[in-house]
Amino acid sequence: MVIRIGKATDNDFVANDSHVSRYHARLTRDEKGNLFIEDTESTNGTFVNGDRVIKKKITPSDIVTLGNNYTLNISEVLKSDNDYSEEFAALKPVYENYIKEKIRIQSSNQFKTRLLQSLPFAVIGILGLMISVIGKHNQGVFIGSLIIAVCAPTLGIYLGARQSAKIPALLQNLSNQFKINYVCPKCGTFLGEIPWESLANKKKCSLSTCRAKWVKK
Ligand SMILES: [Zn+2]
Repeated sequence: MVIRIGKATDNDFVANDSHVSRYHARLTRDEKGNLFIEDTESTNGTFVNGDRVIKKKITPSDIVTLGNNYTLNISEVLKSDNDYSEEFAALKPVYENYIKEKIRIQSSNQFKTRLLQSLPFAVIGILGLMISVIGKHNQGVFIGSLIIAVCAPTLGIYLGARQSAKIPALLQNLSNQFKINYVCPKCGTFLGEIPWESLANKKKCSLSTCRAKWVKK
């Protein structure tokens, strides 16, 4: 990454100050992610914490001055290169958690629905066994069992249907949250239900006016 800084309008970052040279300095980042400020033969010099430098490694807490009194805002300078790779990397777990949660909602509800629908039939089976043992000579138990045998499956189907009716609402909430979180870090456009890896392969925001870069060069 190289960001050219100076007064001339064709720099990556334009520093409009009378003591800043037309092509004053460069901000670079090496493969390890270290930032360097480098003077490009400016008239009035480049300073880090008051010391004049030719090339110096800098951190966000350092104060970089161009010429007599133009203080460089490093985070603003970095944005001029549209480097959003760190913010974009943070979207990977957002996508993965969305898919994981979506599958969890669907499968857990399917399980609960089937359980609720099949439990009554298990109850009937147990009742049948009980009647065969004690119900033969007891009319009360026999009639009671008959009523339960009719009502239990109906209740089971009702509960099962109610459980499966929760799915759309849960998925809708999940999808709404995803649309808020899975957006371009620069322009805020929802990235769609597109896997993070596919977006990473495109290397930049699909909105042509945005120009955010997602993968460091
Ligand atoms: Zn964008």
